[in-house]
Amino acid sequence: MKTTVRLWRRPVLAQRRAFSSSARRLDNYAFIGLGQMGYQMARNLQAKLPPSDIIRVFDINKAAADKLVQEMASQQAGGASAQVAQSAADAARDADTLITCLPEPKHVKSTYDAILSVYGSVQKEDMGTQFKSRLFIDCSTIDPTSSREVANAVSTALPNGVGNFVDAPMSGGVVGATAGTLTFMLGAPESLLGRIEPILLRMGKRVLHCGPQGAGLSAKLANNYLLAIENIATAEAMNLGVKWGLDPKVLASVINVSTGKCWPSEINNPVPGVVETAPASRDYAGGFGIGLMRKDLKLAILAAKEAGAELPLADKASEVYEAAESEERCKGRDFSVVYRWLGGKE
Ligand code: NAD
Repeated sequence: MKTTVRLWRRPVLAQRRAFSSSARRLDNYAFIGLGQMGYQMARNLQAKLPPSDIIRVFDINKAAADKLVQEMASQQAGGASAQVAQSAADAARDADTLITCLPEPKHVKSTYDAILSVYGSVQKEDMGTQFKSRLFIDCSTIDPTSSREVANAVSTALPNGVGNFVDAPMSGGVVGATAGTLTFMLGAPESLLGRIEPILLRMGKRVLHCGPQGAGLSAKLANNYLLAIENIATAEAMNLGVKWGLDPKVLASVINVSTGKCWPSEINNPVPGVVETAPASRDYAGGFGIGLMRKDLKLAILAAKEAGAELPLADKASEVYEAAESEERCKGRDFSVVYRWLGGKE
């Protein structure tokens, strides 16, 4: 398996395509899953596509799709023509690029079951001629094994390279999704990069190609596992220092020029008032929800078991997030709220 990460490449293709004056065929897009992330991503994608393209959106929450299409239509600066689809299969029917952004593995699997049912009635030998090649980009954070299962289902339903399923989980949160500055961790064959990158760069600013299908999710889960541990350790160390009588700002300034420095200590410090822009300084509102951290940790543990990798700290970390989330004063807040759960001084 490929281990090197080829870093971001400039969005040359995206620019070239958007400003091309030559006639080009109409491209059909579909976007499924219009929650906190997907809504904003679909909005950015649509705004940056030429008016000759079409984007069809679907969510089981129809109100979200209606609202998004209304918002897209009211945009002054053009963008692709937008429509509400009636189901996942309806969204997929004519789409040559379909993007999904769904909560959990079960939602991704059931959505692709519905999507692939569209192709069931077509004779295999007719597929190459009846269909333009289909690209399925899943941006959901799920486990690599579930993602590979869906990739296999796609290649069974759409053989001969007519369909390709790739994983592109992202980081940057709702703020990055809104601003179009997400980072995507891509698991895809090299041969598809030229097609995928310009699409992702309409919703983000960086695409990190991590290897073949599934590799984007492996990279994402390894990173989030590390973050899960660092966040708890930072909350413990800050609480310890404060209990010893240290000023939390002084302690953070020592850590942040020393070997304990990490994202939770420097950017997302869990003690209110240490970093004014951190969620801790606004009652832990916004940020990266503790429920999402718990979910990503669970997925990392599952994937580690399958790979035979020991994670001695993982079960304890899971217990901490579960216990914190079960308390009303922590539920639904940024994951740095673990400091509050520990009884930290606020
Ligand atoms: P969300 O819960 O806000 O949105 C999910 C959307 O999917 C909802 O609108 C829901 O109605 C819809 N949905 C569920 N099942 C569906 C189905 N079968 N068909 C169509 N639509 C369906 O979640 P989110 O915060 O947008 O996150 C989406 C994914 O991105 C998750 O996997 C999450 O882990 C990941 N992610 C989230 C963040 C973040 O900060 N929120 C950051 C990085 C990655």
